Amino acid sequence: MKLNLNTQFKILDTMNRILIITAPSGAGKTSITKHLMEKFPVFAFSVSAATRQPRGIEKDGLDYHFITADEFKFKIQHNEFVEWEMVYEGKYYGTLKAELIRIWNDGKIPVLDIDVKGAIHVQQQFNEGTLSLFIEPPSVEELKKRLQSRGTETEESLAARVNKASYELSFKDYFNKTIVNADLITACAEAEKIVAAFLQE
Ligand code: 5GP
Repeated sequence: MKLNLNTQFKILDTMNRILIITAPSGAGKTSITKHLMEKFPVFAFSVSAATRQPRGIEKDGLDYHFITADEFKFKIQHNEFVEWEMVYEGKYYGTLKAELIRIWNDGKIPVLDIDVKGAIHVQQQFNEGTLSLFIEPPSVEELKKRLQSRGTETEESLAARVNKASYELSFKDYFNKTIVNADLITACAEAEKIVAAFLQE
């Protein structure tokens, strides 16, 4: 199913193409996403809507569109999302249709850094022309260490993320390619190769 929003599109070969990068939180997908975006200027980051509070130096409109739960529910009712998930207890995240359309109209390919369930939903809707990468941590233990060293988690949120990660790892076969991130430089190089081939399709 393609988006059908009575919008006048420019005809470009980036249209309806999407790069999805998914992984359990802490597997390093944000670093790999940033690397790919620097390497390939044809990509533009799809800024999701989220109901959690900004962390550290995060900026509204750049990292996320930080909105309230009521605003999020309004957008669900008005069918504004391609997908949305309650990624963590009471915290909603969603990919906005308007964001994808803005990026395609700009002649670029949206990059979605989203959770595993959301990634499966997007892939089902945009099967053709989509590349989905699953970034796998070398182990759950290593993932726990990385989340701890990030210093942004409470004991409770750390336990929730680690539990969720174990569950999410079971979905890796749903995606086009899996990259094990044992070493970031190697993982970035592997991602680069896969993406270069995707862009030539
Ligand atoms: P964080 O709170 O650490 O920024 O993100 C938590 C998780 O939510 C990450 O796995 C991130 O990729 C995911 N996420 C971010 N935006 C979206 C979105 O629009 N939809 C879904 N399903 N997950 C998202």
